[in-house]
Amino acid sequence: MPAGETARLVSLSATDLFGISQDYVFDCITNIGAQLFNVPVCSLVLADAEKYSFNSCVGLGVRETFRNTSFCDDVVTDGEPMVIEDTLLDVRFSGDPLVRITPQIRFYAGHPIRGSSGAALGTLCLLDFKPREFPSEQQRLLQELVFLTELSFFARGITTAQKALVAKLDLARHESLIDPLLRIWNRGGITTILDQQHTSSLDMRVPFSILMVDIDHFKKINDRYGHIVGDTVLKAVTGVLQASLRVDDELGRYGGEEFIAILPNTNAVNAEELARRLNESVAQLRVDTPMGSVGCTVSIGVAQWAPTRLESVQALVHRADAALLSAKQCGRNCVRLCRRAA
Ligand code: GH3
Ligand code: MG
Ligand code: MG
Repeated sequence: MPAGETARLVSLSATDLFGISQDYVFDCITNIGAQLFNVPVCSLVLADAEKYSFNSCVGLGVRETFRNTSFCDDVVTDGEPMVIEDTLLDVRFSGDPLVRITPQIRFYAGHPIRGSSGAALGTLCLLDFKPREFPSEQQRLLQELVFLTELSFFARGITTAQKALVAKLDLARHESLIDPLLRIWNRGGITTILDQQHTSSLDMRVPFSILMVDIDHFKKINDRYGHIVGDTVLKAVTGVLQASLRVDDELGRYGGEEFIAILPNTNAVNAEELARRLNESVAQLRVDTPMGSVGCTVSIGVAQWAPTRLESVQALVHRADAALLSAKQCGRNCVRLCRRAA
């Protein structure tokens, strides 16, 4: 392996351009090259460890070649331009099958395309099937065209870096909306989703419902078993709620031991049925803790947003809250539906 090959391959993979073809910018470059130098073949190729991949090529229907069979390999390995005005007069290439058999290359001029590290990632090369001269002014022009090619690589590198940065920010933002203990949406996260649900339901004119779920007498669990057991119970309840909800439903922690579930495309009847299922599943839960087996119940308030009433998110949450309060007042461990918007 040539010296610096590992660093060169790292630099190549950072561009994300190996194997990219049918690309407008690269096709512009090879078209300009073919016209400018009046040659039948102009190609822009990048070299990985084994092959050359043609990002663009005018005049040859090739997509890739092995490195050891390509003229360009000397250019990439040495990192220097190479001009062969007549291949038959060059002892290095006169016996080459590309010269002798097909496509019978007689003229070659290749210039390295360097990445930002300075390593030659590939070449911009010109071929002809008859020998020709390539004076220094033309070599300068080829160098300038390569300079523009390198600039286009650089510009794409910036775009790729930007994309990576945005993805990272999305991840950070996502993490900032997750409750660290329960690994579900926190209040900021679930209210953001509620706003989005409201907007899309307004657009689509379809109903959705929300459930306000609160653990009953949770303070007593803390007081009796301690906060660590309290945390374990909280996590176990979260697991039961998640398991009982459907894939499109969203669950968030609205307060200490209070949750909101968003049920897209769900009317009050179905939301109430789902709430009863959650209520029963939690009632059956037994959490094994060092202090023994602990159980709990939840009270649930249900409210449906209807497209015919242009109710705000705040008003909807307020109604679900009122339904929850009513469930608490009715003795807890039950479900109450707020039937109508005020
Ligand atoms: P109710 O049935 O009326 O809802 O009674 P409650 O005891 O559940 O409600 P209350 O609001 O009186 O108490 C809620 C308790 O939840 C108080 C608070 O310390 C506890 N809590 C809130 N967040 C956490 C938490 O993350 N971990 C633990 N262990 N306890 C929490
Ligand atoms: Mg409670
Ligand atoms: Mg509460």
